[in-house]
Amino acid sequence: MSQRLSTVRGVNIEHALDGLNPAQRAAVVTEASPLCLLAGAGSGKTRVLTRRIVWRIQQGSALAPHVLVLTFTRKAASELRGRLAALGVRDQVAAGTFHSVALAQLRRRWADRTERAPTLIDRKVALLAPLAPRSRRSELSDLAGEIEWAKARMVSPEGYVAAASGAARRPPLELSDMARLYQRYEEEKRRRGLVDFDDLLAHCAQALEEDPGFAASQRWRFRHLFVDEFQDVNPVQFRLLQGWLGDRLDLCVVGDPRQAIYSWNGAEPSLLRGLAARYPTAGVVRLEDNYRSSPQVLAVADAVMVQGGRAGRPPAPLRGRLRSNRPDGPVPTLAGAATDVAEARAIARRLRLAHRPGVAWSHLAVLTRTNAQLVLLEEALGAAEIPYRVGRGAFLERPEVRDALADLREGQPGRGLAAGLADLQEALRTSAGQRSDNGADERGLHLEALVRLAREYSALDAWPTVDGLLAWLAATVGREPAEQQGDAVELTTFHRAKGLEWPVVFVAGLEQGLVPIGHAVTPSAEAEERRLFYVAVTRAQVELHCSWAERRTFGTRTLRRRPSPYLVAVEAACRVLSGGGHPADGESPGDSAQPVGVAGLISRTRTNLGAARGPAARHRPKGAPAKPSPAMAPGRPAAAIAAQADEEALCALRTWRAAAARASGVPAYVIFHDSTLAAVAAARPTSPDELLAVPGLGPVKVARYGDTLLDLLQTHRASA
Ligand code: ATP
Ligand code: MG
Repeated sequence: MSQRLSTVRGVNIEHALDGLNPAQRAAVVTEASPLCLLAGAGSGKTRVLTRRIVWRIQQGSALAPHVLVLTFTRKAASELRGRLAALGVRDQVAAGTFHSVALAQLRRRWADRTERAPTLIDRKVALLAPLAPRSRRSELSDLAGEIEWAKARMVSPEGYVAAASGAARRPPLELSDMARLYQRYEEEKRRRGLVDFDDLLAHCAQALEEDPGFAASQRWRFRHLFVDEFQDVNPVQFRLLQGWLGDRLDLCVVGDPRQAIYSWNGAEPSLLRGLAARYPTAGVVRLEDNYRSSPQVLAVADAVMVQGGRAGRPPAPLRGRLRSNRPDGPVPTLAGAATDVAEARAIARRLRLAHRPGVAWSHLAVLTRTNAQLVLLEEALGAAEIPYRVGRGAFLERPEVRDALADLREGQPGRGLAAGLADLQEALRTSAGQRSDNGADERGLHLEALVRLAREYSALDAWPTVDGLLAWLAATVGREPAEQQGDAVELTTFHRAKGLEWPVVFVAGLEQGLVPIGHAVTPSAEAEERRLFYVAVTRAQVELHCSWAERRTFGTRTLRRRPSPYLVAVEAACRVLSGGGHPADGESPGDSAQPVGVAGLISRTRTNLGAARGPAARHRPKGAPAKPSPAMAPGRPAAAIAAQADEEALCALRTWRAAAARASGVPAYVIFHDSTLAAVAAARPTSPDELLAVPGLGPVKVARYGDTLLDLLQTHRASA
C-alpha cells in the first residue's frame, strides 16, 4: 500500500479493513456496482457499509463531500455518523433520512426559483379532524396512518380502493369512504397551500424527473449513495433514490429480509431481493457470522423464527442459521408477573442489579411493542431513581429548545447560521461550567442535541440558513425523539430499536394482543409481528430477559392477559439451553451455564428476572418449589415415567395436540414433545401447580394450555 494512500485524512488505510472477517472484507473492497449486501441481524452490515465508505474515500474512488448515506430514522443516522467519526471521517459525509435530504433539496429549489415555500404540516390529524366523520374522531391517527400507507405505496385516492383491498387493509372506514376522505384531505391541503411529509418525497422525486437542471445539481452533489436497512424502503423512497442516482450505478444497499418490519406502513421488502435483477451489473454479498449476540440469545431468536416456519419442518439446530462469534452468555430468562405494574417494578429491580462497575446504565435497554407501554416503565424507573431516556418525545416543545431557536431567529437575518450556532455553543460551554456534572442536566443535553442537529442540517444544505434550519427541524425532530447523551437506560419500542444493540436487553409486555399486536390479523401481518419480535430479541448482546404480565390496565379497565404465543418457542429454547429443566422457574437459568457476562464484553454476570410466575404459580410462595406429583420423584427419568403413562389419556392428549398444531399451523412438537405428553399422562396432574411440576412444562405452556390439559384429564378420569 503506498505511503500516500496510507495517510489519507490521517487514517491508516489498514484501518478501514481492520477487524473484518474475509467475507466482510470482500464486501468492503468489491468493485461490484450496485452492491447489495444481504445478511442477518448483527452480521456486520452497518459495519461493512461504514468501512466501505472509508475504504472508497481512502482509495480515491469516492469523495467524502459527495457521499450520501440514507437511513430511516434520525437515531440511525446519528449512529452512522458516530461510527464514521470513529473511523476518522467526521462531518464531511452527509447522513440523513430520506425526508431530511428531500426537504433540504426542495428548500434550495424553492429559494432558487424564488417560489414561496409551502407550509409543512407536521400533524395530519389536525387537518383530518374536520374532514373525518364525527364518529371516527377517536381514530384520527389510524386514518392518518392509512393515508401514509397509500402515499408510501404511491397510491392515489382514485386507486386506493383496489390497492387497499388487494393488500387486505383494514382501515377504520369502509374502503370507499376511506378513499373519499383521502381525496378530501389532498384537496384541502392543496387549497391551503400545505404539504405533508409524504409529499416531500414525491415532490422531490418529481422535480428530479422533470427538471434536468435540478437533477444535475443534486446528482453532482451526491455521487456515491449508500442505504442502510434497505428491507424497509417503500416505493416512493425507491423512486426518489432512483431520481438521485439517475443513470449512474454508484449505490450500495444493505439489509435483512428477516427484519422487514414496515410492510404495514407501506415498505416493500421485495425491492431488496429484486435489486440484483433490476441492475444486471449488481453484486450480491452474503454474511453468515453474527458478532453481536451470544449463542444463547441467537438460539432464542432462531427458535422464534423457526416456530413461525412451515409446519412439519424439523426442529432447528439451536445454534441456528447465523453462527455466533461471541462467547457463551447466560441462558435468556422468561418471567411472568402478576400485574403490569409488578412487571415494571421487577424490571427496575433487575436493572439496578445489572448496573455495577463496568456496566453503565446505557448498556441496558427495555423494549416494548408500543410507546404507551413505556409510560409505566418510566414511572417505575423514576420511582427507583434510575436514569432513563425515552425513545420518543416532543424535543421541539422543550422550553430551552424553543428559547434557543427564538434567539437564533431574532439574531437574524443579518448574521447567518454559523454565527448563531457559535453563540449557542458558547452559551453551552458557559452553562456546562456552572452545572453540576451528574450527566443528567436535561437542559444542557437538549441544547447540545440542538447544536448537533444544526450541524447535521448544515452538512445537508449547501447554503444553510436559520429559516432552513427551522423548517428542517420541524420536519425531522417533529417526529423523532430528542437526541440526548448521558448515561441512562434506554426505554424504546421494538421499531425504534432496529439496528441498535445493548449488552443487556429486557423485552417486556410479551402478551397476546401486544405481541403480536391485536390488529395483526392477516397471515402477513402476523409474520411481520414475528419479525418485529425477532428484531427486539436480536438487539441483546449478552443478556436477554423476556417478561409478561397476567393483568394489564388499559385506561380504567384491568384485563386478564395470556402470554404471547411466541413465548412457547422462547420457553422451549431456554429449556434446551439450560439442559432440559424448567429454565424459567425456580433457580436462575443463567446460573446453570458458565457464561461470559456483560462486564466480560464489558465480567461475569448473574441476571435473572427471578422465578417466572405464570398464573398457575401464583398461589405458591415465591421461590418455593412446586409440590412434586407422586410420579415426579427426583431423579426419575422422563422415559421411566412415560412407561407408566395411561395409554388412553395419552391417546386423548395426542389427538388434542394434533388439532392444536393444525389450528396454529405449527408442527406438533412445538405444542408439546412426545415425552412431555407422556409425562403429563403419567403424572395425571389435577392443578396448575402439579402441571408445572411435569418435566417439559413451563409457566408459558401452563398459562396457554394448562386449563385445556386439566379439563381433558378430568374428562378422561370421569369417563374412566
Ligand atoms: P442489524 O441487522 O441489527 O442492523 P448489522 O448486520 O448491521 O445488524 P452491525 O451493527 O454492523 O450488524 O454489527 C453488529 C455488532 O458486531 C457491532 O457491535 C459490530 O461492531 C460487531 N462486529 C461486526 N463485525 C465484526 C467483526 N468482524 N469483528 C468483531 N466485531 C464485529
Ligand atoms: Mg445494521
